[in-house]
Amino acid sequence: MRRRVASSAKPNPAHFSLAKLEQRLEDRLFLCTQNVDDLHEQAGSMRVIHMHGELFKSRCEWCSRPPFRDTQTYDLPAEIPRCECGGRIRPHICWFGEVPFELDRIFGALDECTMFMAVGTSGVVEPAASFVAHVGGRARAIYVGLEEPANRSSFTECHLGKAGEVLRKLFAQTT
Ligand SMILES: [Zn+2]
Repeated sequence: MRRRVASSAKPNPAHFSLAKLEQRLEDRLFLCTQNVDDLHEQAGSMRVIHMHGELFKSRCEWCSRPPFRDTQTYDLPAEIPRCECGGRIRPHICWFGEVPFELDRIFGALDECTMFMAVGTSGVVEPAASFVAHVGGRARAIYVGLEEPANRSSFTECHLGKAGEVLRKLFAQTT
């Protein structure tokens, strides 16, 4: 069901702004998302860290077969596909209670960053909600979104509005 819904979604202006920013900054931009869709990639982003995994990938629950692209949808109740090893094939997404992906790389980037920006996130879901606290005043910390996040006090700046519009203005000032 989630794949069906996500496959009709299109990138919004914020996705395109971030893709354009990457063209300018290249690997100086570390883009990490909690979203499991591929809208950043559709907008042209090349280096996206999906900390909660990717909806259009699957993997074996047991063996080390790497995650693979999978757009298959199922009518429930569906027979769960099996890997060659006998393990069940599952979506390559982080379910509640599982550890998010790439945390070492993410915290490495947080340690190094000079500017931290959170876009359109509630500031509630951990561990992402603590990223701004990890930056801890060392870097300029900017929030962009429609409403103040739960962790507002950890940010040095809060820009409320539609992410696409706010980002376009913010990035126009950056060189
Ligand atoms: Zn397997």
